[in-house]
Amino acid sequence: MSSPVVDFDEALADYDPVLGLEVHVELNTASKMFCGCSTAFGAEPNTHTCPVCLGLPGSLPVVNAKAIESAIRIGLALNCTIADWCRFARKNYFYPDMTKDFQISQYDEPIAFDGYVDLDVDGETFRIEIERAHMEEDAGKLLHLGGSTGRIGDAEYSLLDYNRAGTPLIEIVTKTIHGTGAKAPQVAKAYVSFLRDLMVSLGVSDARMEQASLRCDANVSIMPKGTTTLGLRTETKNVNSLRSVERALHHEIRRQAAVLSSGGTVQQETRHWHEDGEYTTPGRLKSDAEDYRYFPEPDLVPVAPSREWVEELRATLPELPNLRKLRLQGDWGFTDLELQDVVNAGALDVIEATVAAGASPQAARKWWLTELARRANEDGVELAGLAITPAQVAEVQGLVDAGTVNDKLARQVIEGVLAGEGSPAEVVAARNLAVVSDSGELAAAVDRAIAANPDAAARIRDGHVQAAGALIGAVMKEMRGQADAAAVRELVLAKLA
Ligand SMILES: [Zn+2]
Repeated sequence: MSSPVVDFDEALADYDPVLGLEVHVELNTASKMFCGCSTAFGAEPNTHTCPVCLGLPGSLPVVNAKAIESAIRIGLALNCTIADWCRFARKNYFYPDMTKDFQISQYDEPIAFDGYVDLDVDGETFRIEIERAHMEEDAGKLLHLGGSTGRIGDAEYSLLDYNRAGTPLIEIVTKTIHGTGAKAPQVAKAYVSFLRDLMVSLGVSDARMEQASLRCDANVSIMPKGTTTLGLRTETKNVNSLRSVERALHHEIRRQAAVLSSGGTVQQETRHWHEDGEYTTPGRLKSDAEDYRYFPEPDLVPVAPSREWVEELRATLPELPNLRKLRLQGDWGFTDLELQDVVNAGALDVIEATVAAGASPQAARKWWLTELARRANEDGVELAGLAITPAQVAEVQGLVDAGTVNDKLARQVIEGVLAGEGSPAEVVAARNLAVVSDSGELAAAVDRAIAANPDAAARIRDGHVQAAGALIGAVMKEMRGQADAAAVRELVLAKLA
């Protein structure tokens, strides 16, 4: 059930929001954090397990070096200090998805700490300070069955799948974020979006929020304007899309303002975001000092990356995604809106490759965001998954520029390439799509059109140039669209001048 809320503007007139964001990223290593089991998604339940990730007595974990490497690269990209020496810790609690009764995590010795990222939101720069990025293992998955909601409350029984148990995670925690005002929800969304793009460009995670390989817990509290004491915060979970990050915080700020304005107290608790109705409901109460009895994991050696290795890894960092976007926008001359459309469509890479293959940025944008976006949408694939390469798209545009095909025919060329009929040039030849450039053939078609439409011809002779449309249409129809309309128009007007 949704709670009372006040208008967002009203809430912001009286209160300043303070954010804290925790993002879990599932690494894409082939094997788990502390054993050799596969991390492949979607396998039969409990087939990717062994004594280590099932927590059987006597089994010993060994750290996955690739996961450490990914953690360090993430830390470096977030401008963090990388620890010279750090340890794993046991976080003790009971839940059926964690058979050992503890999770191996990091506590007061994270691998990376004290970083920052600068984000541009609507022309304003916000610095998000990173408190820490630490390594831990994921838990298994619980399925609650026999009820109508899939939730534990009305389930008759639950099933456990430990395939995910032990998958490497990086948890990235911000310091409290002040001073965002009404932009708080947008800043949070921009931050999570930045992290998602960063993980993909680092190649350390596929960072798919809908598959929970990147998940965000959004902490928010509000302070009455003019005060300096932090309010009690809530932590909203289940936020599994960028849009939801923004919407959930928007809602939570309005809800907390309603509570405080009516003289109530905000409960420090977790809350669950309901995508369908766009509201949050309370989860469990949270105290600041939850006692997990952390202690150093005795079965693992400390992690002590050499400075040489850290510097080697620093040299592998790609250009940061937000800087890359700005550079490409400058190179391509796109407006903010055009760039946003490209980013939202996930078309940055394919457009870059199409431009590199010789197409103009505007032409590349046009094909990928219209014809090809429509096809990708119909087929339920990513743009890069379509059966046409950026080089072929550039070739199609080259055929248009050379006058071999017009825009309409170019769509048929693309259709042919997607259908596996060969390269653009091969499709043009096989489907006989080239525009008719033989002037004698065109002239004859124009003569026939004039003869068949004497009224229109007479009006053009009288100076009514707009009547040429009927004759151009007749010629284009006869040529099955394979003529250059501008050339036909010139011929018609010349003959009737
Ligand atoms: Zn295992």
